[in-house]
Amino acid sequence: MWRAAAVRALRGGGAGAPRAASGAAAAQLRRRLESELEDIRGAGTWKSERVIASRQGPHLRLAGGGAGIINFCANNYLGLSSHPEVIRAAVEALEKFGAGLSSVRFICGTQSIHKDLEEKIARFHQREDAILYASCFDANAGIFEALLTPEDAVLSDELNHASIIDGIRLCKANKYRYKHMDMQDLEAKLKEAQKHRLRLVATDGAFSMDGDIAPLREICQLAQKYDALVFIDECHATGFLGPNGRGTDELLGVMDKVTIINSTLGKALGGAAGGYTTGPKPLIDLLRQRSRPYLFSNSLPPAVVGCASKALDLLMESNAIAQSMAAKTQRFRSKMTAAGFTISGKDHPICPVMLGDARLASVMAEDMLNRGIYVIGFSYPVVPKGKARIRVQISAVHSDEDIDRCVEAFTEVGRKHGAL
Ligand code: PLP
Repeated sequence: MWRAAAVRALRGGGAGAPRAASGAAAAQLRRRLESELEDIRGAGTWKSERVIASRQGPHLRLAGGGAGIINFCANNYLGLSSHPEVIRAAVEALEKFGAGLSSVRFICGTQSIHKDLEEKIARFHQREDAILYASCFDANAGIFEALLTPEDAVLSDELNHASIIDGIRLCKANKYRYKHMDMQDLEAKLKEAQKHRLRLVATDGAFSMDGDIAPLREICQLAQKYDALVFIDECHATGFLGPNGRGTDELLGVMDKVTIINSTLGKALGGAAGGYTTGPKPLIDLLRQRSRPYLFSNSLPPAVVGCASKALDLLMESNAIAQSMAAKTQRFRSKMTAAGFTISGKDHPICPVMLGDARLASVMAEDMLNRGIYVIGFSYPVVPKGKARIRVQISAVHSDEDIDRCVEAFTEVGRKHGAL
């Protein structure tokens, strides 16, 4: 036995070593994948993952030694990912309710904390009810198919998040795609869609690649005129947009006009994971019966529920946290614009520094890290070809000094690489 194991180890095939599948089909697949990967590298759109060796926060330590890095690329908008009370709530939930449910919700996966969190989410958004998912990707994957039939229509902004696009693909409704935030085009499509039983306009509240905010007032007016429902994805709004952080609908004064909200627990609300739909009670009841990512996937782990629940408590106790963002965002946007950069979007902590060229975005992001600033270049297929950018995300827990250091580094690196 030991002799065979030693021979395998010498040949590199010891116990635990990866086993390559054999056969012509496996070899053909490997060649095809390697060639595809090479194409991605060649196009300069390779996405590598930096390894963080500390908690998420405005200052990080990277694996391999980089300490004191200032982080500008997390969705940790309010800094709650490492908030001591959020962490304590997770530990308490873990101890009291265990690691996980080993079950989907309707079999034996519903605990009192799941029901409490759903009630809290609905209260936060001032809606009738809410349903939890493992992620907002799942919430988006589950809603359209459960709600819309071939008699209905969905009208979707062309730059909606990939998960909305995928969710819409899964449903059998008639599909209309309107130009990004173009109300004339939306109106034309709504006119065309009058022949269908029900119309649902679907939009991101805030667009994650561009930092722009959907014109919800106008969308809701059109929806009223053409008898349509409005759905918004609030992943980049929940917790910090609007006077009380309720989101885009609060910011734009249309909380009573938006019918359905999907959002995430994995960004501003503690940053662990999880997503939800909130809206009319019969819709939530139907999703519990029909929505496939809900019916066929494990319940949210108690520690994750504990984090989100505490984050919502903190936001509902006072609006000070939600309001702490705007001045930081304004500081970065105005200083970068004065330095000569083009920053997409408006008044949102997502601040895309527009560069155009994919390679330039990636090289500049690398050079920013050499100066202690962690930012990421985005290129195709995450954004359209020729519209590469470095997306900077401001967090309420960045200091003014952090922001100024980031602007200084951008200015140096931009000059060095000919972007200014
Ligand atoms: N919708 C939008 C607009 C997002 O930005 C994201 C995350 O990147 C999602 C949905 C998916 O959220 P989650 O991470 O909870 O799956």
